[in-house]
Amino acid sequence: MKVFKFGGASVKDAAAVKNVSAILARYPNQKLLVVVSAMGKTTNKLEELVSALYAQDYRIYAGLLDELKAYHYDIAAGLFAEKHFHIYQELEDIFEHLSQLFVKPLADNRSFQYDQLVAYGELISSKILAAFLKDQRFSSAWLDAKTLIRTDNNYQQAQVDWDKTNELCKQHILPLLKEVDIAVTQGFIGHTAEGFTTTLGREGSDYTAGILAYCCEAESVTIWKDVPGMLNADPKYFEQTQLLSQISFKEAIELSYYGASVIHPKTVQPLQQKNIALYVRSFIDPEAPGTTISANADRDHHIPSYIVKFKQVLVTFSTKDFSFIAEKQLAEIFAALASMKANINLMQNSALNFSVLIDHHQIDVDNAKALLGAKYHIRYNENLELVTIRHYNDAILAEMSANKTCLVLQKTRTTARLVLQTH
Ligand code: ASP
Ligand code: MG
Repeated sequence: MKVFKFGGASVKDAAAVKNVSAILARYPNQKLLVVVSAMGKTTNKLEELVSALYAQDYRIYAGLLDELKAYHYDIAAGLFAEKHFHIYQELEDIFEHLSQLFVKPLADNRSFQYDQLVAYGELISSKILAAFLKDQRFSSAWLDAKTLIRTDNNYQQAQVDWDKTNELCKQHILPLLKEVDIAVTQGFIGHTAEGFTTTLGREGSDYTAGILAYCCEAESVTIWKDVPGMLNADPKYFEQTQLLSQISFKEAIELSYYGASVIHPKTVQPLQQKNIALYVRSFIDPEAPGTTISANADRDHHIPSYIVKFKQVLVTFSTKDFSFIAEKQLAEIFAALASMKANINLMQNSALNFSVLIDHHQIDVDNAKALLGAKYHIRYNENLELVTIRHYNDAILAEMSANKTCLVLQKTRTTARLVLQTH
C-alpha cells in the first residue's frame, strides 16, 4: 500500500480535483491511501470564522460562511453534472450545522472550539474528492480520519497516542483496502478518547500521511506538491535553485528543523523509524521524479542548501553587576522567554553576555525588560536575517555575507549559521 498526500493547492478548484483523479488513474490496481487537505485557503477562512464566532459578529460570520459555501459549491458544480447528486445534500447539512453554531453557547476553551470547527475544511474536501472518484468509477471509499488518529486533548497541537492509533489503523484501513483500491481520508485531524475532534497543528496533513504510513507499514509516502520536489533554497528569495533529487531522512529532518517549509517537520521521523521512503513530487508534472527521501545518505553533501529566516531580533542580556552568565542566570532567562512563548532560533554566550535570536513577532522587548530588567541590561538589534547553510564552503559564506554585517557566525562541520544585518 502507498500513501498519497494532496495539499490544499492540489484541490483548489474543480480542474485541480480532476488532476488529482488523473494522477490516481496512473496507479491502476494499486492500494492507495489518499490523505487530503482542505481546499485552497479554506483553513485560513475557517480560522477567521472562529474569530468572528468569538467576536460574536454575525455579519462577518455569515459573510465568511457564504463565501466558503459558494467556493465549495462552485467546485462541486465543476465536478458533478447532476444537481441532485448526494454530495450536495452532504454539503447542505455541513453548512447548515456551521450556520447553527453561531447561536449555540461558546466553548470556554477556544482551542477546543477551533478544532471542532476548522476540521470541517478537510471533511468537506475529502467528501468532494471521494464523491468524484466514485463518480469516475474508481474502486474507492471515504474514510473518517476521526476513527484513525487518537490524540490527547491538547487542542490545536494534539499529540498522537501511537499505540491506540496503531490499533485503530490496523482495524479500519487494512480491511477497507481489501475491499476497495483507494481510501480517501482527511489530513490534519485526530480525535480524543471521548470522540472530540482535534487537530495536529497548521500544515499537519503531511504529518497525518507519516502517521498512517507508519501504522500501516506502507511501502512509501508521496507528497504531491506544486513544486518539483525539495529544492536547495526557496525560489522566492533565490534566483538559482536546484532540485535535491535524493536526500537522507536525517538531512530532511535537519532541513525542516532549520525552517525549510516543503514538508511538515514532524512528518519524517515516523517514516525514518520504519524505513518508509518519502517522495516529494509535482502534481503539475507527475512524470517528473521529484525528491526521494530515504535512509540513503550518499548524496546529502552534493548540493549546499540555504534556509533564510527574515525579521529576526537579536536580544542580548548582560548582567548589571558584571557577574558571569552561568547556569543560574541562563535558567532565569530561559524561564522568562518560555513564559513569553518565544522560540529561540539561535543562541550565543560569552562571559558577560548572552544573546538569543528570535522571530520578531514572538518577542516583546518591553515585556522582557519588565521580567528581567532589574538584573540585566537588555539590548537588541532588529530586522536581521538568519541564514543557515547545510554543506557550506568558504566561498558561499563570503558570498552570503557580502555587503552585510555578520553579527554572529556559528559553524559545525556540516552547517553554518549567519546572523546578518543589511545596511
Ligand atoms: N488544512 C490544514 C492547514 O492548512 C492542514 C494542511 O493543509 O496540512 O493548516
Ligand atoms: Mg492546507
